[in-house]
Amino acid sequence: TDSPLSGKVALVTGASSGIGEATAAALAAAGAKVAVAARRIDRLATLSSRIEKAGGTAFAIEADIAKGGDVAAMVDRAASEWGRLDILVNNAGVMLLAPTAEADLDDWRRMIELNLVGLMGTTKAALPHLKASKGHVVNVSSVAGRVANPGASGYAATKFGVVAFSESLRREVYADKVRVTVIEPGLVRTELGDHITNQEFKAGLEHRLATMEALTAEDIANAILYAVSQPPRVNINEILIRPTDQE
Ligand code: NDP
Repeated sequence: TDSPLSGKVALVTGASSGIGEATAAALAAAGAKVAVAARRIDRLATLSSRIEKAGGTAFAIEADIAKGGDVAAMVDRAASEWGRLDILVNNAGVMLLAPTAEADLDDWRRMIELNLVGLMGTTKAALPHLKASKGHVVNVSSVAGRVANPGASGYAATKFGVVAFSESLRREVYADKVRVTVIEPGLVRTELGDHITNQEFKAGLEHRLATMEALTAEDIANAILYAVSQPPRVNINEILIRPTDQE
């Protein structure tokens, strides 16, 4: 067919809302079979049926990516469902903003376990499949992976970490024709801020979102679709994408 991703199998983590949900729908509309993973299985089931109704193919996997054991099982299920894995979108993440002096150590641990260790473990588990398929890893970092703002010390540490991990990975696997892309979004209107435990920073983010035209999850999905639809010789290493309203 003419669909750019027909015959490809993708795994999208954090697909139960926001950027991951929009990305899964976009990849499926472009012809990929899509495994969608997160903890909220009800939301994944709704997304899967929406994709299938639109003529696509999807499969929901319940996984807590902050738990070491779950990630290998998640990747195995995604790769065995259709016998291959071509595209891994490591999108699951949390942003628990707080100034360092007031930060909750458990918030830091949650971010490191999910945004960093979870992403790294998922990637490691997927590598044999991606080498076999000459596949593609897309890691969702952030503007906070390039600019470290006050109040984002812990979050930025994880997102700078994603950039560093991705660059090292790219140099390890390019000779196997595996591509690595980092996506660095600015403010996107999603559920991300809902989990912030510091009330001042939670309110501050809500105020910013209310007084600007933020990006939509679909804007980021389009960027990811662009990266993974290029011919095999083209490796889009990094996409930094801010709302026009963001400094
Ligand atoms: P959402 O909160 O809408 O989505 C986060 C996703 O991560 C959900 O699907 C959630 O699913 C999943 N998730 C959270 N914890 C876990 C876990 N322990 N195991 C598995 N999945 C988990 O936010 P966004 O769509 O905005 O966030 C997606 C990514 O984009 C994140 O990495 C974020 O850092 C990044 N980003 C977002 C920006 C923004 O402004 N929104 C800007 C820059 C980067 P569930 O709870 O069901 O497990």
